[in-house]
Amino acid sequence: MEFSSKLLERAVNEMSQLPGIGKRTALRLVLHLLRQPKEQTTALSQALQDMRNTIKFCESCHNISDFKLCEICANPNRNETIICVVEDVKDVMAIENTSSFKGLYHVLGGKISPMDGIGPHDLNIETLVNKVKQGVVKELIFALSSTMEGDTTNFYIYKQIQDYKVVTSTIARGISVGDELEYADEITLGRSIVNRIPFETSLKL
Ligand SMILES: [Zn+2]
Repeated sequence: MEFSSKLLERAVNEMSQLPGIGKRTALRLVLHLLRQPKEQTTALSQALQDMRNTIKFCESCHNISDFKLCEICANPNRNETIICVVEDVKDVMAIENTSSFKGLYHVLGGKISPMDGIGPHDLNIETLVNKVKQGVVKELIFALSSTMEGDTTNFYIYKQIQDYKVVTSTIARGISVGDELEYADEITLGRSIVNRIPFETSLKL
């Protein structure tokens, strides 16, 4: 792609670093911004900088948060004895949208994947195990995608906590997961949480 301006080229190159944005789309977006009032670009870049510089992760569940504790963990009406274990922040949002779950979450930050060099210690597993050890948690719901990596991660956590008094369950796999939770429709996802099955049962399937 030949550019008539180095400034334009730089903006397009930066924009095209984003997932799903090729050079052509990046050029279209940049040209769009050029046609808009300057204030719009300022607001966009300021929002991104503020988000990147000041956003925090909840000290308890690792969800993205503006405060030390996220709104879910800080809410006294949530049931702290049930924890739904998810891969990432998108899954929290998907499950919250169902309004079917009133417990807390634990965001692992991914799943165990030896192929990608991701081991248990790269994920927020230790903090989860510590929560279980403290004895407040009565049930863990595994809501990871039903891929081999998801199953491996579930099983690893299960092994770590099986000696403690905690019930483990997994979301009913009627949903065609394999794909991610965020793509499941709200009713199906909500139902799969309500109709969760004991984790041990899922191992025999
Ligand atoms: Zn939290």
